Amino acid sequence: MKAYYAPGRVNLIGEHTDYNDGFVLPIAIALGCRIETRELDVPELRLSSKQYADTRTVALADLAGLQPAKHWSDYPLGVARELLVLGVELKGMVLEIDATVPTGSGLSSSAALEVASALALLDGHELEKAELARLCQRAERNFVGMPCGIMDQYASVFGEQGAAMLLDCRAVTHERVPLPAGVSVVVVNSMVKHDLGASAYRDRVAQCQEALTHFPGKAALRDVTLGELERAAAGIPEVPLARARHNVLENWRVRQFHAAAAEADLARMGQLFVESHRSLRDDYEVSCEELDFLVDAALTLPGVQGARMTGGGFGGCTVNLVEKGAEEAFAKEMRARYQARYQLDPAVIVTTPCAGARSL
Ligand code: ADP
Ligand code: MG
Repeated sequence: MKAYYAPGRVNLIGEHTDYNDGFVLPIAIALGCRIETRELDVPELRLSSKQYADTRTVALADLAGLQPAKHWSDYPLGVARELLVLGVELKGMVLEIDATVPTGSGLSSSAALEVASALALLDGHELEKAELARLCQRAERNFVGMPCGIMDQYASVFGEQGAAMLLDCRAVTHERVPLPAGVSVVVVNSMVKHDLGASAYRDRVAQCQEALTHFPGKAALRDVTLGELERAAAGIPEVPLARARHNVLENWRVRQFHAAAAEADLARMGQLFVESHRSLRDDYEVSCEELDFLVDAALTLPGVQGARMTGGGFGGCTVNLVEKGAEEAFAKEMRARYQARYQLDPAVIVTTPCAGARSL
């Protein structure tokens, strides 16, 4: 038996910027996906997950011609197909998946599954870390059909204990960003997931492309400056303009956050969180009532420096910057308020930056 592990991630700031070649600032978290493998003497992949009842078996010979099944196994099988494209020789094996990342909550259970699957299927073959992240991104784009950026897979691969990462999604490189000692990253799960999520994500990707057509010569929204945006604004329809404005300002906020973290300026870091949330709510329109409630509630509590939705939106989690020592009271009060309003118990997770994917 062999075992592999890849973490989920929480994005601190830089939301919906990764697929526009922009900047993001995530950490890998203490929740992740573990896969145990056993070699088979038949050439097939046998997939099972402790989180799902249905299993799937696919012959290696059928992989290249496979169609997506709108099933959880599309993630590992998409990875297997990308490995084939690279010329990796796959072996017949059993893959038993067991993950602690909640699914569909914006903590990237999908990237944890992809990256752990890639390590399992590679079975000791070397693949450069950035290539590993890109391969998993291609699996999600090409086979699952989600036009995602590189953030989730990159964070799962490159996570580092004790430091966040400022990731340049065009260069696919990062700079480590130690967080000030006095602050905790606290995730609050709204426990809701509105159906709109996947289609709205695709719409946002398309609207950003539409906005980009108003900036001839620019390869991505990441290249648009605030001045250029202001000069072009009058000629851009309202919706793509708002999406572009979010991107231009969000990239700026990521850099500001980086600088504020270096100075341990918690108040500034928190203020940028709040501005990011407002922009996601008003310009990008990916928040929802429950996330807005969680952010507004958090901002009234002692020791809270900032709060914002994190991940794709339409449910999932908020991320909060809470002064050390105030986490427990924060969790208790958030649960009480959310239960009183929505009759749901939100999971509250205090997390630190964790190490990335590895063989166990
Ligand atoms: P997120 O990445 O934010 O958690 P996604 O919708 O991108 O949400 O990915 C969730 C999907 O990933 C699930 O619906 C499922 O298909 C797959 N998945 C995640 N974790 C597991 C798991 N432990 N076992 C099997 N499939 C999983
Ligand atoms: Mg995902």
